[in-house]
Formats: sequence, C-alpha cells, structure tokens
Amino acid sequence: MTDRTRWVFAGQLGSQFDDGGRMLLIEARSVFGRRPMHRAKAHLLLSALRHRARDLGDRVEFHQVERYADVVDGRAELEVIDPPSWSARRFVARREITVLPSRGFVTSEEQFGAWAESRGGRRLLLEDFYREVRVRTGILMNGRDPVGGAWNYDADNRRSPPKGATTLGHVPWWPDEDDIDAQVRIDLDRWQAEGSVQLVGDDGPRRFAVTEEEARLALDDFLDYRLPDFGPYEDAMLQGDWTMAHSLLSVPLNLGLLDPREVVEAAEARYRAGAAPLNSVEGFVRQIAGWRDYVWHLYWHLGEEYPTRSNALAATAPLPEAFTTLDPHAIVARCLSETIDGMRRHGWAHHIQRLMVLGNWSLQHGYDPVALNQWFIDIFVDGTPWVMPANVIGMSQHADGGIVATKPYASGGAYISTMSDYCGSCRFNPKVRLGENACPFTAGYWAFLDRNESRLSGNARMAQPLAGLRRLSDREAVVDQERQREVW
Ligand code: FAD
Repeated sequence: MTDRTRWVFAGQLGSQFDDGGRMLLIEARSVFGRRPMHRAKAHLLLSALRHRARDLGDRVEFHQVERYADVVDGRAELEVIDPPSWSARRFVARREITVLPSRGFVTSEEQFGAWAESRGGRRLLLEDFYREVRVRTGILMNGRDPVGGAWNYDADNRRSPPKGATTLGHVPWWPDEDDIDAQVRIDLDRWQAEGSVQLVGDDGPRRFAVTEEEARLALDDFLDYRLPDFGPYEDAMLQGDWTMAHSLLSVPLNLGLLDPREVVEAAEARYRAGAAPLNSVEGFVRQIAGWRDYVWHLYWHLGEEYPTRSNALAATAPLPEAFTTLDPHAIVARCLSETIDGMRRHGWAHHIQRLMVLGNWSLQHGYDPVALNQWFIDIFVDGTPWVMPANVIGMSQHADGGIVATKPYASGGAYISTMSDYCGSCRFNPKVRLGENACPFTAGYWAFLDRNESRLSGNARMAQPLAGLRRLSDREAVVDQERQREVW
C-alpha cells in the first residue's frame, strides 16, 4: 500500500481498483453539462459515485464540485489507475499525478500490444484475438483445445424468437432504489430547472446495478435464469420483451463493479456443472473476453484520431430529431419506433437493436459517423468513449473503410422480419421495396447500395449484393422514392 491518495474515475468504482489505501472521488457537475445526456445515464453515474463514496466511509475524500481541476490542481500526492479515456489520460498527464497500469479487462494493454505486434501488419481480427485470449487464460479450454472441439457456436446462436411468443418469459432481477437514488432525482430536477444540464429520456425506476453488491445479484440472476437462453436468442427481438435473455451487465462492467475475468469464469463454471449449454456459455464468454476487451484495446491502438481520420462512405447527414429527442411518435416503422421508445424509457437497447436497427438505419441514411458516435456515448446508459469507436465508427458504420468489419452491416427488412415480431404489426411490408407499403429498411438498403456502389465495388464481400442491385428492374424508382421519403 502507498501513502498516496488514489483518485478513481467513474469506470473504476469496484474493489478491483482499490488496494486498501486512501481514496478520492470527485463528482464534477461539468461532466453533465457538456452535451445532452440521457437522464437515466446521469442518474446511474451519480448514484454509483455516491454509493461508492458512502461504502468507502472514512477512507474516502468525496467532493461535489464544478470541475475536476477544482480538487486536483496543485496536489502532488495523488495516484490514478490509468483512466479510461484519451481526454482523462491527457488531463492526468498534464499534472503531477502517479499513473498505474490500467485494470478492469481480461487482458492488459501490454498483452494486446504484444499480440498486435506478433500479427506483423496482418488484420487484427476479433476471432484471432479471442482465440489467443482463450489459450492465454485457459477459459473454456481443455489443454490446447477449445472445450467441445469448436471455437465458435454461432450457428446455434441465431435463432428467430420462438413462434407466437411475445416474450422469452424471464423477469430479470431489478435493484431496489434507496435514499441516494431519491437525492439524485432531486438534484437532477434542480440542475435541469437551473439549466445547468440538458437531459433527455425518462429516469424511471433504476434498472442497472450501481454497487458491487447489486452487480453480483444481477450477475447471479443472469447466470441462474437467463444464461441458457442467451446463446440461441442472442440476435432475436420481441416487442414485448425489452431485455430478452441479455445479461444487463454492461453498466456494472463499465462502472468497474465486476471483474470481467470473474464473470466469464462464473459462466464457465455453470457449463462445467451442467447448468448451461456450451453454445450459450461460449457466446457469452466471447462477448466479454472477446468483444469487450477487443474494443477497449482498439480504442488505444487505433488512436484518438480514429473516429475522424476517415469517413469512407462520405456520410454527412445530421442525426434526425427522433434520435436527439428520443421521441418516436413520428416514426411509422415499428422496429425503429419501438427501439427509439425503448431508448427513451431505459437508455438501453440490446445488441441487435443497436446494430441492425439503429446502426443499420443510420448507415442507410448516411448519418455523420462522428455525431452518431457521440450520440451513442451520451444516450446509452453503458456508453463510454472507449467502447464506442470500434462499435460505431468501425463495425456499425463502416466509416473506417474496413478496419474492424470486413463489410458494412447493412440489411433490408427481411432480416428484421426473420429475427423479430416487429413486422407483423407494422404498416410497411419487408418484402416490398416500391410503393406506399415499401419497407424503409428494404428500400433503404437498395438506396444505400446505389449511393455507395463505387465506394464498395472493390470489396469482394459486397460483390453479390452489388450484383443484385444491378439486376433490380426498378432500381431508379426505388432510389428516387427513398430520396423523397417523408414517412418512415
Ligand atoms: P449482453 O448481450 O448480455 O453481452 C454481455 C456483455 O458482453 C455486455 O455486457 C458487454 O460488456 C459485452 N459486449 C458484448 N458485445 C460487445 C461489444 N460489441 N463491445 C463491447 N462489449 C460488448 N456496449 C457497451 O458496453 N456500451 C455501449 O455503449 C455500447 N454501444 C454499442 C453500440 C453499437 C452500435 C453496437 C453495435 C454495440 C454496442 N455495445 C456497447 C456492445 C453491446 O451491444 C452491449 O454491450 C450490450 O448490448 C449491452 O447489453 P448487455 O449487458 O445485456 O449485454
């Protein structure tokens, strides 16, 4: 233990960031006034900080101030664990603060760096990284071989929702709010009335864990009841079930309340005890030990300029009002209006809604990827600067020209129709691309390909879709229709 005081950030609130010495926590109001933020997200951040301050008791110095600098400037006895954003690292580097290596991921920055180096300029593919993590950690391994003989069970994990079901039938564990949450609401109301913060969306009952104790309850509940369905229905969407079999752990993970290594080991233990099938457990382990670590490391590896370095599809359209206000009333397409409405209510959507509804829509409409990236950070309760660039700029918007994903995640309404129950009650028809009932996702897909034909023509994985585009007898009419579309 050192005699320094450890300043911890909002992503470092768990005991994995605490070595037992004096701690410093700062609630800086300016963080909430920079841009419009989802109110549920502001609530979670404040609640988590204040709960941590309460739990640390007399070991913590807790300040509620305007700016971080008000507390840390001029102090030479502070240390930090390398903070989780470029701007925070810069802030710390400009001061006399001791910096310790980052924590909170399955692999260290050093290990990722060595792996990236060993690729010798080849692509840094998630699949290769993930296998390396499995081998290095022994997670789901039998010696040098993957448990079950395969690295990947994706083929078992793409099921449509059960026929006729309106929900998967799981009610997740929900936290009980306390006096700290009540005070957070009072403060947010006051700040909003004063005009010092701009908040959007509802701040309904708190749905995500903000303490380590709550995070463990949320984890156990997921492992006990939803993990078996996680794999098969990972990509499925139902209007009546906003959580499906997802873990709802991104908030406590990104607050630093759960050690991701322990989370994947706990999931593996369920498989080894015969309590959860391998396809679900492997799928879950891949999300955390694979994707979550991978996007964290890419954030540093690709550099701070990565989001602005290229805009491969020349996308410059502003975000629509429905995104910035989270008001779905003018949206007719059921999948999009339900997803935006879920964002208004919870500040959260599950992965396939993020990728194949919100992301797909944005890609088709050419929204400015940097603005979209910022929107995801501000509006999603689990949004952080590090998690977004690889997910939004890379995977979802293909703005990096193919560093993260080999082809754009664009698809028509047929995919949404197969994977959800949205289309049955929608005015648009996913099979129709021209006319009053033309699905804006289906027609939008063709319009997207038409607009980007020359930009994508060098991509072998786009050869088939582009050949399909060239065969369309009504290509011009569809493109014209989408250019003029007012109802969507
Ligand atoms: P589950 O579906 O239960 O998955 C388990 C865990 O795996 C998650 O909690 C998360 O920690 C991790 N994970 C899974 N996929 C990813 C991924 N692609 N990147 C990083 N971690 C992953 N994740 C965030 O944590 N914050 C975000 O703001 C965020 N925005 C996203 C935006 C887009 C456009 C896309 C395509 C993905 C985004 N993700 C984000 C990744 C993923 O969608 C969420 O982590 C997940 O939906 C959170 O819900 P859950 O905790 O129930 O996750």
